[in-house]
Amino acid sequence: MSLFENTLAQIKRASDIMGLDKDIATLLSTPMRKVEVNIPVRMDDGTLRMFTGFRVQHNNACGPFKGGIRYHQQVDFGEVMALSAWMTIKCSVVGIPLGGGKGGIIVNPKELSKGELERLTRQYIRMIAPVIGPTTDVPAPDVNTTPEIMSWIADEYSKIVGHDAKGVVTGKPLENGGSKGRDKATAMGGTYVLHEFATESGMNPAETKIIVQGFGNAGSIMIELLTAAGYKLVGTSDSQGGIYCADGLDFAALSACKAEKGTVHAFEGGKAVTNEELLVQDCDILILAALENQLTKGNADQVKAKLVLELANGPTMPEADEILSKKGIPVIPDILANAGGVTVSWFEMVQNADNKYWETDDVNAKLKDIMVKAWNDVKGNKAKYNCTFREAAFITAISRVEKAIKENWKI
Ligand code: NAD
Repeated sequence: MSLFENTLAQIKRASDIMGLDKDIATLLSTPMRKVEVNIPVRMDDGTLRMFTGFRVQHNNACGPFKGGIRYHQQVDFGEVMALSAWMTIKCSVVGIPLGGGKGGIIVNPKELSKGELERLTRQYIRMIAPVIGPTTDVPAPDVNTTPEIMSWIADEYSKIVGHDAKGVVTGKPLENGGSKGRDKATAMGGTYVLHEFATESGMNPAETKIIVQGFGNAGSIMIELLTAAGYKLVGTSDSQGGIYCADGLDFAALSACKAEKGTVHAFEGGKAVTNEELLVQDCDILILAALENQLTKGNADQVKAKLVLELANGPTMPEADEILSKKGIPVIPDILANAGGVTVSWFEMVQNADNKYWETDDVNAKLKDIMVKAWNDVKGNKAKYNCTFREAAFITAISRVEKAIKENWKI
């Protein structure tokens, strides 16, 4: 099943449960606009190379399209379409006034010099400029795109329109209109939701063992925040493999190992495991913060955690979702658990528009309010429809988009 088919299946499942109007279901199953561009770039050796880029605008009933730009050799239209639809749903779960979009370029950025990467980015923006803008479609970082790349985008777009238009993109460096708290926002949002679940389930952090797959932006900060809150980290991993220790792993020591040896797999204070093995080790909470399609029909049955929390986008395949549900293991879904990132991106848009900037405590307090409200909304629908957290999150989001379409659109 492709990622987009997976997304459509999730939308359909929620639509069936809530008895969604068929026209709305049709609208949500189809992106509003798909743009493909062939991007010419002058390479350092003087040759001309063509790259393919995409921007997909899924739905803007609730506000401007919003979503990151991914640089990866495996980017394709289907993936970008799926990610754009999830953005519509994600923004709506947390009730922020944004729609869903996503972009990508088929490229391995590690093979390009910095100058080539900058020329690629600026040319891509020149080619999609007619369809983006601070009040129409606002990109952001995603896999392999950085605050510096966001600065190039802001600068190029501002030159095109002839005035300062930083608000065309979020995830910028602080000194160029970024928001405080954005670097930790995804993990921070995930901890607010997890804390609600843990409190309601009577979990005591000191007795709660966590495994976090992925030691990147989302995963490592989640580990930092949760271990500081008293949770016991027993396993983690990166692309080279995992490390497990039932007695607990120290975040600072793992970070030092990652910095020195390039991987947590080489950490000496535990048992080296493969990524596949890590997912089925003993723990209370399994946090997925790496890649898509990690829990499958092949391994879901062996998961020992009492809760799965998705910080990555799409880490649980639909068949795995069903298996976990039958086993009574709740999954707090990506569209809720990682929505802190886009929420603080929205804060950045608001701050750029006001040209006035907030302190970190203020950002985190506002983020907490939004995440806790979203948690309660999703929980309410879970009880109302007697369904999973994922279905309830989709229902919460789709109901809002439906209302916006019915009230605002004339078709
Ligand atoms: P990242 O590139 O910083 O980190 C990814 C991590 O996963 C790295 O540690 C990498 O080594 C590891 N990894 C790669 N392949 C792996 C494998 N086979 N097994 C285990 N680990 C593997 O990316 P990130 O920003 O942390 O994003 C991770 C996920 O979270 C993605 O799905 C992304 O879309 C999602 N997400 C991130 C944010 C954010 O603000 N960073 C926001 C929303 C969603």
